[in-house]
Amino acid sequence: MPAPYNLDGQVAVVTGSTSGIGQAMAEALARQGVNVVLNGFGDPAQIETDRRRIEAETGVKVLYHGADMTRPGEITDLIDTAWRELGRLDILVNNAGIQHVAPVDEFPPEKWDAIIAINLTSAFHATRAALPVMKAAGRGRIVNLASAHGLVASPFKSAYVAAKHGIVGFTKSCALEVARQGITVNAICPGYVKTPLVEAQIADQAKARGIAVDRVVEDVILAAQPNKSFIEYEQLAGLLLYLVSDMGAGTTGAALTVDGGWTAA
Ligand code: NAD
Repeated sequence: MPAPYNLDGQVAVVTGSTSGIGQAMAEALARQGVNVVLNGFGDPAQIETDRRRIEAETGVKVLYHGADMTRPGEITDLIDTAWRELGRLDILVNNAGIQHVAPVDEFPPEKWDAIIAINLTSAFHATRAALPVMKAAGRGRIVNLASAHGLVASPFKSAYVAAKHGIVGFTKSCALEVARQGITVNAICPGYVKTPLVEAQIADQAKARGIAVDRVVEDVILAAQPNKSFIEYEQLAGLLLYLVSDMGAGTTGAALTVDGGWTAA
């Protein structure tokens, strides 16, 4: 069956794509014929195994760039490398993110700074570097992985909620700036997806709230999600592929939820 999204031969950078949602989004793009640049931390041998596997399974070119999303110069080099090595840049997915859960008056300042840098400021640096290429091409797609926490709050997540509300605002502002230039900028706001980031939160939440680990999933994490199901990677990939295709050309500046009804409440 031909790919319905007409993305064959395009080039995408997905930040934070050595794990979880980012890796799943990179693979979903690769399966549509998009050459991808992976980024993120992890065991170098595992990253290389994943890179080769995606190439072998999809037939696209897959590069890896180890830019640290707290370092502006490395982020710029990530974008420049995609353009230089693969000849174009059509899609930027700003996905890298970290979490720390603690009461605000006990929140470690260095954790606050890291969360703002990785979850918010890195998207500015990547977007700043990517837009001139997209403007010159007269087309581009930027998708920011925000969160339901870009729209509503939970306790003990002050830095994350601040960064995610920030990325929703950044998305809207950028979208307005480039609306006449064939470039769309949108945010995807997932509810809970069972990735390594969420696994780590389960233990942290148990500590912060003083309750058992098994109660956290039922009473805390999925308590906010009316469908009582973790969001699946395929559900996020479906929205991403729509947004980056020509079908998504009319959607810009939007914060689109995939949250099982969480933010409807
Ligand atoms: P994850 O921990 O599985 O993956 C995070 C990725 O970011 C990894 O590849 C990691 O190496 C990378 N990363 C972290 N710090 C980095 C740095 N300084 N430089 C470069 N890369 C770095 O997390 P995930 O759950 O897949 O989350 C991905 C995004 O989705 C995040 O922005 C997160 O806030 C958002 N999100 C996740 C959920 C969820 O339930 N998992 C829900 C809503 C939004």
